[in-house]
Parts: sequence; structure tokens; C-alpha cells
Amino acid sequence: MANNMTDTIEKPDTQTEQATTAVGSAKPASTSWFNRAVPGVKQHLTAPLTAVETEPSTECSSCHSMITNTALIFNCYVCPHCDHHLPMSARERLQWLLSQVDGELGQEFVAKDPLRFVDSKPYPVRMKEAQTKTGETEALVVMYGKLRNLDIVACAFDFRFMGGSMGSVVGDRFVQAAEKALAEHKPLVCFAASGGARMQEGLLSLMQMARTAAAIERLRIAGIPYIVVLTNPVYGGVTASLAMLGDIHLAEPKAMIGFAGKRVIEQTVRETLEEPFQRAEFLLEHGVVDEVVHRHQLIDTIYRLLAKLCSQPNVEA
Ligand SMILES: [Zn+2]
Repeated sequence: MANNMTDTIEKPDTQTEQATTAVGSAKPASTSWFNRAVPGVKQHLTAPLTAVETEPSTECSSCHSMITNTALIFNCYVCPHCDHHLPMSARERLQWLLSQVDGELGQEFVAKDPLRFVDSKPYPVRMKEAQTKTGETEALVVMYGKLRNLDIVACAFDFRFMGGSMGSVVGDRFVQAAEKALAEHKPLVCFAASGGARMQEGLLSLMQMARTAAAIERLRIAGIPYIVVLTNPVYGGVTASLAMLGDIHLAEPKAMIGFAGKRVIEQTVRETLEEPFQRAEFLLEHGVVDEVVHRHQLIDTIYRLLAKLCSQPNVEA
């Protein structure tokens, strides 16, 4: 079969043929150099690719395996090979958490550019790019609905949107979520993933730390539960405000959580900080985090905690 094919292609070069014979190729001398197998290199597949092979895939950032996007969605964005927790978008996160979505909050808020801030690009240009990239209008998405039999308000940061940075609109949306939770006596859940305050809004973004802290304090006074889930990564002004003021702090495995980054601390204290510094497991040992929960158990854990805190019957009990 191979001979017929090669005869029609071209006559092999005499010099190459001699060289191959010299290194002891098992192939007959008449085989074309073009079709000859190279040791250690996989033969090119002639069979048409299957649907799975042509499906869009994502590379795991930890073990570098290629995982089809469908498999990833079914596995809640956890790598089936190494258990690495890949990032989830805010919208996917909330739709995954809520058994029923009743509505979304805060979409009317739009970021302004009061400082006319320009770094390598003007702030409005950066915003536009982030909106196109993520399909979101801001870095925080707020939804309300049901988690099984419980009515809850939930919000999630989208790290892809300017690093999940907290500007005035993120503050507005969070406060609106807290106010709805307060008015309707529903627990609040927040999935944090942020690089901190948004520098393009200067002082206005720093003010959101105080605003969100005040909103959480009102929930605390009213006895309304507020659960924070720390996902990879949470830093800066978000850590220093709403992400560390929960009644309960859960964290995803190996999430990086801190205020200043590791490199900044190393330069300040002039020490090398070894792994797992700033990882969720390290913070659990040091009492910052209450529990590190695998994503597959996260919904159950949040539900059980909220059912207990709200004195509601646990439908799974
Ligand atoms: Zn992996």
C-alpha cells in the first residue's frame, strides 16, 4: 500500500536513501523520505478528527493538560487531572450557585471618569476593553434568587474585568446587594476575586472600602448572615474591607489571599517567604479563614451554613 503511494509521489533521493540504509532503517529502501517514520515523533493521524478533538479546549494552568470546555463546565472548572481550581466568571459562578435566579441588581450604575485618568491608556478605553472582553458592565455582578429552599442575595467579582478592581460602581452594587439583603432579611454571599481598589478612580475607589464596611455592619446589627468565599486571588482594598468582614470566611483550595503581594512583603521585611505563604491553607492554619472547601462541596457547605444561620429547615437533612 505504501509503495503504491510513494511511487506516485516522487522518486527518493539516492543520497538520503543511502544514509537511511546506513543507520539501519527497517523500512524498504524505496520508501519516500517524506513518509518515513522518524523515531520518537508521532505519525500524523490520517483519520478525521472526532468531535472531542475539535472541541474548544482550555489548558490547565497548573498541569498544562488540555481539557475540553464541556468537561471543564461539567467539572465546575476544576482540572480533572490535578484538581487545580481554574477561575470562573462572575456570571457563571452565580448561575452555578443559585438554583433559581430571580433577578440582577445594580446594572443601572455606570462608571464615570472624574479624574480623567490616563496611564498607558485612558480609563474609558480600559473600561470599554474590559466590557468587550468579559461581556459585563462592571467587575461585580449581583443576583438574587434561591439556593434550594433559601432566598439569598449573592454577588461575585469577575477577575477578568480589570483584575476585579473595586471602583465606585462595584461599591454601589455591593451596597445595593447589602441593602436588599437587609430590607428583605435575606443572607448575603460574596465570592471575592480582586486585585484591590481601582487606581483609576483614586480616592473614590478607596472610599468604597468604608462604604462596603458600613453596609456589612448594618447587616451584622440586624443579624443577617454574610458569608465570604475567597477565591484565587484576593488582595488589596477588597481584602481590607468586604472580603474580611464576613461572619464566615470560606476559601477555595490554594487561593492566594493577602493585602500586599508576596514580593512587596519580601522587599519590606528582607526575608524570603516560602510556599504556602498567603495560600488559603496557610491562612486556615493561622485563623484567617474558617474552612478551605473544594469547589465540588462549596454549594453544599454554603447551603448548610446558611440553613443553620437562618434557622431554616435543611432540605437535605
Ligand atoms: Zn491540571
